[in-house]
Amino acid sequence: MKKIIIYILILILLMFTIPLIFTNVNVKETNSEVVDSAQPVLDKSDYSNIKLLHNLDGSVEELNMNEYLYGVVSAEMPANYEIEALKAQAIVARTYTIYKIKNGSKHENADICDNSNCCQAWISKENRQARWEEQFRDEYWEKIVKAVNDTNQRYITYNGEPINAFFHSNSGGKTELASNVWGGTLPYLQIVETVRRRCI
Ligand SMILES: [Zn+2]
Repeated sequence: MKKIIIYILILILLMFTIPLIFTNVNVKETNSEVVDSAQPVLDKSDYSNIKLLHNLDGSVEELNMNEYLYGVVSAEMPANYEIEALKAQAIVARTYTIYKIKNGSKHENADICDNSNCCQAWISKENRQARWEEQFRDEYWEKIVKAVNDTNQRYITYNGEPINAFFHSNSGGKTELASNVWGGTLPYLQIVETVRRRCI
């Protein structure tokens, strides 16, 4: 079971790394910090507040971008994953959010909703922590917050525009050409072999 988890984790890390190669994002790891002089940084006035639609009761909550992303990252990736994987998830989630807003929300009074089948998964801090064992609640939440804050305002672009940052949880050996799945053209989502590595 442990081997399977490690194997899945490696695939997920590859999944995040490969798209970065094909875009102009350049994330380097130095002293465990994300450092990138070329990576686009949001103007502070852009996308600073997110209107989030809660599908359960139809209410709309206004959150600042990072507060919103705490709920996204903690909903999308287990908090016990490596911090660099969580940072990658934070950048992908921020990019996906910006793309959605920039290209027109599906919702009349909100920028995005909390349903992964419609927009992007989101969970409140209270509900997230309730699902973690008590001894890990503070540690895990702080890790999520760090992943988001350390990548503050950073997102992925292609030709200067935010990419449509699709992501998935694992790969069967290679990625598929995006146009074969959804049609249209997404030049930055190409077929890429993923490395199968045997974990010992
Ligand atoms: Zn939606």
